[in-house]
Amino acid sequence: MSLIVQKYGGTSVGSVERIEAVAKKVGSFKAQGDDVVVVVSAMSGETNRLVELAQSMDAQPDSRELDVLLSTGEQTTIALLAMALKKRGVPARSFTGGQVHILTDSAHNKARIVDIDKKRVSEALAAGEVVVVAGFQGVDEQGNITTLGRGGSDTTAVALAAALEADECQIYTDVDGVYTTDPRVEPKARRLDRITFEEMMEMASLGSKVLQIRAVEFAGKYNVPLRVLSSFEDGQGTLISFEEEGMEQVRISGIAFNRDEAKLTVLGVPDHPGVAYQILGPIGDANVEVDMIIQNVGADDTTDFTFTVHRNDYQRAQTILKKVAKELGAREVIGDDKIVKISLVGVGMRSHAGIASKMFELLAKEAINIRMISTSEIKVSVVVDEKYLELGVRALHSGFDLEQPVEISQ
Ligand code: ADP
Ligand code: ASP
Ligand code: MG
Repeated sequence: MSLIVQKYGGTSVGSVERIEAVAKKVGSFKAQGDDVVVVVSAMSGETNRLVELAQSMDAQPDSRELDVLLSTGEQTTIALLAMALKKRGVPARSFTGGQVHILTDSAHNKARIVDIDKKRVSEALAAGEVVVVAGFQGVDEQGNITTLGRGGSDTTAVALAAALEADECQIYTDVDGVYTTDPRVEPKARRLDRITFEEMMEMASLGSKVLQIRAVEFAGKYNVPLRVLSSFEDGQGTLISFEEEGMEQVRISGIAFNRDEAKLTVLGVPDHPGVAYQILGPIGDANVEVDMIIQNVGADDTTDFTFTVHRNDYQRAQTILKKVAKELGAREVIGDDKIVKISLVGVGMRSHAGIASKMFELLAKEAINIRMISTSEIKVSVVVDEKYLELGVRALHSGFDLEQPVEISQ
């Protein structure tokens, strides 16, 4: 008998029929003697609908009240799934985040889980019930409802699995595993049987939204065996595991991309000590996260300074920068919010030289202009114009031989 934590995403609980299919699947695990904790998302589209509803009340809604509203999406699906299970004769009980004491900090809309009191979950499991928990939500010390940021139900599941020392945490979604790249952009993408935590962390942080980055971080830290599978079809999915000695290392495991990028440049900045701080200090103070940064080698005593931010922060960052540029005596501030970042990820890159240059060659062949570059031990990222996203991803996918192994017909 094992203890399994399963998470079903929005599409997997997107209708009454889908919820009934989930109940059937959960029931089959229960019937084979497993203890099951199920975490569910809101029905697909529901969180977006609630965000829009809030924004129609106030363009920048109060963050505490927004969490009260957003948490209702998951409250709907826990109730419906528990009903569906009971209808099938499977004992079940639904719990909101607060009811199972998912304690978070008070950072509304992007709270972090700090503790889980597993008493209520353990009691319900001991009573033979399937425990159905609302994903994406918790409560802070003062009892305020908080939410964990988009995609946060993944993190709820992993955190519960860690707290309960579950045998496996299964993330059921609308694809049958983690692919070499988003199969919606490259239909020739291939499902990976395994990927390391390190690679999955990079993929998630560079834009692959199949798993929330914090979920991967948590699973790696607490050694939670994590698997991504389809709720629509059977299969073994993708296991996310630690790098093992002797594990054959492919050079590139995947291509991630992020459409939410924008870049800003301050031209003609007087080149003296402290300018980077003077530019990025106010940006940081305004809570705008900066990703890539480039400063040119100074010529004629001035330099150019470029960095990327989330597209939602573009206008705000530009306003701050114009003020700073004036103070610094810089020439001009320019920007572009129609850019994307494409990244190659793979632990095997460590031992293979020439990956970056091959990447640049493949993009050049398609006449794609590279605007910015950044590298680390296991990734190479480039910023290109938005219109080249699909072309770039596909060119790299085929250029690095990531496609489906060719099927030989008889
Ligand atoms: P859920 O609602 O189940 O949480 P998400 O939409 O958050 O589902 O995540 C699943 C989606 O992630 C897939 O439909 C796919 O388009 C996207 N995705 C992006 N990158 C990848 C990848 N490398 N492998 C698989 N899916 C990916
Ligand atoms: N419903 C939330 C969202 O859409 C959380 C999740 O699905 O993981 O982001
Ligand atoms: Mg998700």
